Amino acid sequence: MNPALLVLPSTINIIGASYREIAETAPTSYIEVNYENMYLSYKPYNKLASEYEEAIRAAHAAGRRVPVIHAPYESWLMHVGSNGIEELANTVTSLGVKVMVFHLPSTRYGDAWQDAIKTLSRLQDKYNVEVAVENLVAAPPWSNPHRLAETANKHGISLCIDTGHLHLNGYDTAEIIDKYLDMIRVLHVHDNHGTSDEHLIVGAGTINWLRAAASIRRAAENGSWIVLEEKCIARREGISACKARLILQAASMTGMVTGWNGYRKLLEGGIRTR
Ligand SMILES: [Zn+2]
Repeated sequence: MNPALLVLPSTINIIGASYREIAETAPTSYIEVNYENMYLSYKPYNKLASEYEEAIRAAHAAGRRVPVIHAPYESWLMHVGSNGIEELANTVTSLGVKVMVFHLPSTRYGDAWQDAIKTLSRLQDKYNVEVAVENLVAAPPWSNPHRLAETANKHGISLCIDTGHLHLNGYDTAEIIDKYLDMIRVLHVHDNHGTSDEHLIVGAGTINWLRAAASIRRAAENGSWIVLEEKCIARREGISACKARLILQAASMTGMVTGWNGYRKLLEGGIRTR
């Protein structure tokens, strides 16, 4: 697939707008559905599968497809167990989702991650979906990308590498992406100042993007989805600021992974502002 098509705006880019409106703002034919919107609007755990369905159908109605979702966080996973995880996998794969991103339960939950990862591995085969597990901020041992990769590899599961979380934990983005290139199916791209998980746009924090750019490009060429995880809360920042940022970030990331031709194609494809 053309790397330009692998750049995925996310619902996290406009928290507080309807799923339909977010999808319509995206200057791309794809969008990622992220749990953060549901988390911040206190959706109950037992209603989440239908919430994902609603979000994906809204994206379809806006003419966008949803190849990747970010599943609910680890406390949900502990709460709903394997039946709840399976219900979600069944729902989203029937709507065309190809990759599901999960956080594994940390050692705070004892060794519960072992059952979780077995369930995820089983669901991959049953629903023909790829599961990717993400490196986290402060969730031992999954804040350590090497431990995460080693465990994922044992269970035939892919990786979602999050640039912001790597930076917070003192890892070099370029080095980690290159080391695990063949296991990475999703990159979460966002920035911070190394002190809190700010989810800023690329360039607004202290990640060395000049170094990271070539690695991100290699990941895109290798078929990894590049999810824009900069977070914008509409009621704080204003909906037009969030929309403008989504569009600019999609354009600049497309430029980063494809060079000028991809950037021009995206612009010609009609960046929409409304
Ligand atoms: Zn992330």
